Amino acid sequence: SSVIKDIKGRLDGKVAIITGAGSGIGFESAVLFAREGAIVVAADINLKSAEAVVERIKEKFPLNVLKRPVAYKVDVSKEEEVKKMVEFTLKEFGKLNIIFNNAGIMHPHDDNCLNTDEKVWDLTMNINLKGVWYGCKYAIEAMRKNTDPKGGSIINTASFVGLMGAATPQLAYTASKGAVIALSRELAVTHARENIRVNSLCPGPLRTPLLMDFLNTDEKKNRRLVHLPIGRFGEPVEQAQAALFLASDESSYVTGTELKVDGGLTAAY
Ligand code: NAD
Repeated sequence: SSVIKDIKGRLDGKVAIITGAGSGIGFESAVLFAREGAIVVAADINLKSAEAVVERIKEKFPLNVLKRPVAYKVDVSKEEEVKKMVEFTLKEFGKLNIIFNNAGIMHPHDDNCLNTDEKVWDLTMNINLKGVWYGCKYAIEAMRKNTDPKGGSIINTASFVGLMGAATPQLAYTASKGAVIALSRELAVTHARENIRVNSLCPGPLRTPLLMDFLNTDEKKNRRLVHLPIGRFGEPVEQAQAALFLASDESSYVTGTELKVDGGLTAAY
């Protein structure tokens, strides 16, 4: 109908890299970004899962085949691999407008101040924090070359635990996410005049394998739910919708913020 013809994809003409695209928030974001017209580079350390999201996109939006999505294998904790991922994107699609640095891990074992060890700490920091830094570094370099439109949008996945202490200890994870928020703010300030917007997304607790593996008893799950005003765990697609807003020009005046999509968790006492 004429109405549908008038609705432009919210990411029409944009090229987007999404890391951790094989599962959870990244998976739903890849599908949503593609639905809105973006060319999506679905990047994950697990290539098979990245290929699965590409298949899903092709199946759901066959008319968008010209804007072909691609699966890409990357370990975000390896600088050289992140650099190559951005180079690949530029070579293949000519530009980069959006990067969603979303890949992250949470060590499944209790990780408190006394029992955590250096291996867990370093692994968590290398993926959750350094991985975000590398993504920003090479994306900014690429986005500086964009002219029409100028700049780009960077979204970094943090967490509500970056804003408040978690009841179940996960020290390295919490520290990494707090640092993602701080890094994103500073980059936002530094690059605002270049129209490179940098925001962090702070999801609340979601019904994804990452969290459900961690909250592996009813007692642990219920302890979280007590503090969750909305009374349920979130769905990954609810994060993807927020990421889409930050990725699109609808958020053109939003930079340096941490968008809490947390069912009211951080508002509760
Ligand atoms: P998920 O485990 O479902 O997906 C994470 C994806 O990242 C996986 O596909 C995995 O293969 C990939 N990945 C892991 N290490 C990687 C690496 N080194 N390089 C590239 N890819 C890698 O998790 P999710 O819940 O969708 O989490 C996505 C992000 O959201 C993470 O940063 C996580 O910390 C954050 N987060 C999740 C929750 C939650 O409750 N699930 C809450 C707050 C924040």
